Amino acid sequence: MDTVTPEHSAPEIARSDSTDPENPALAPGLYIVATPIGNLGDMTRRAIAVLGAVSAIACEDTRVTGKLMAHLGLKKPLRRYDDHADAAARDALIDLMRAEPVALVSDAGTPLISDPGYRLVRAAREQGIAITSLPGPSALITALTLAGLPTDRFLFGGFLPAKDKARRDMLTELASVPATLVFYDTGPRLVETLDAMAQILPRREIAVARELTKLFEECRTGTAADLAGHYRTHPPRGEIVVLAGPPVAAEAPDEAAIDSALAEALARLPMSQATKDVARTLGLDRRALYRRALELQGETPATDSSATDRPATDSPGTEIA
Ligand code: SAM
Repeated sequence: MDTVTPEHSAPEIARSDSTDPENPALAPGLYIVATPIGNLGDMTRRAIAVLGAVSAIACEDTRVTGKLMAHLGLKKPLRRYDDHADAAARDALIDLMRAEPVALVSDAGTPLISDPGYRLVRAAREQGIAITSLPGPSALITALTLAGLPTDRFLFGGFLPAKDKARRDMLTELASVPATLVFYDTGPRLVETLDAMAQILPRREIAVARELTKLFEECRTGTAADLAGHYRTHPPRGEIVVLAGPPVAAEAPDEAAIDSALAEALARLPMSQATKDVARTLGLDRRALYRRALELQGETPATDSSATDRPATDSPGTEIA
C-alpha cells in the first residue's frame, strides 16, 4: 500500500512577508534559515526578519549562533539540535512548532547540506507541521558557480571518507557518473584527496574553491596532479570545496603511441602493473591494453568479449590479475 505523508503547507510568512519583510507576523511552524558562509553581508533581509520574529532557534552550536545573533542585535532562546539528538528532544521541538514559529539554522550555510536537520524536517513533515525554507548561502552552490565546470548536471558527494581505501572506493564508484562531482573538504586532507583523484580521475579538470566569500577567496583549476603539487608546497588554510569535471571522452592516442608507452612500462614493471599505469596515463581501457601487451610479448590473448578497445571515460576499469 502506498504511504502518503500529510499535506504540509508553508507557514504564513510565505504569503505575508512580501508586504513587510522587516516585521513579519509569523505563523507557527518550522523556518529553515540559511546563514552566511563567511561574509556577514550575505545574510538576507528575510532571514534577519525571521530570526527576529521566531520564538526559538534550533542550532548546531549555541555559541556560534549566539555570535551571529549578537551581530544582528537579536536575542532569542537557542536550543542545541543535531541529528543525533534523541527522539524526545526532537519531539519537544516538534511540539513547540505546533504552537510557535521555530527557526532551524546551522553554524554556516544552508541547514541539512552536510549539516543537521534532515531528521527534524522529516519528523515535522510526518507530523503535518507547516515548513518553509529561506534560500541563502551554501558553499556547494557558490563553488559550483565559480569553478567554470559544467553545471547542467552535478552530484554532491558531501565529505569523502577520511580513510584512503574508502575514499578511493567512493571516487571509483563515482568516476563514471556523467556529471560534475562536488565534495566538501578540509585543509589537512586536501592533498590526500587530490592524490586519490590524480590516480582515479587523472584526466579530469579539477577545481579547488577555498575560503569562499572571505578575504582570501581563491578558486584554482588544473589536473589533480598539478593541484596536489601546488598544495603540497602551499598547505591550504580555511574551508574548501573540491570539484571534478565530468568524464572526458578519450582523445584516442594512435597505436604507435600506445605501443611505445606499453613497451616502456613493460621494460620496468610486471605486465599487470604496466597496463594499469598506461591505462591511467593515457585514459585507456586496461583490459584492451592487457591484450595488446600480450600481443607485444608474442603471446596470444585469450578472447574477452567484454573488453572494449577504446574507453569512453577515464574510469579505471576492472582490475586484472
Ligand atoms: N551547510 C553548509 C553549506 O551549505 O555550505 C556546509 C556545512 S559543512 C559542515 C562545512 C564544509 O562546507 C566545510 O568543511 C567546507 O568544505 C564547506 N564550506 C563552508 N564554508 C565554506 C567557504 N567559505 N569556502 C569554502 N568551503 C566552505
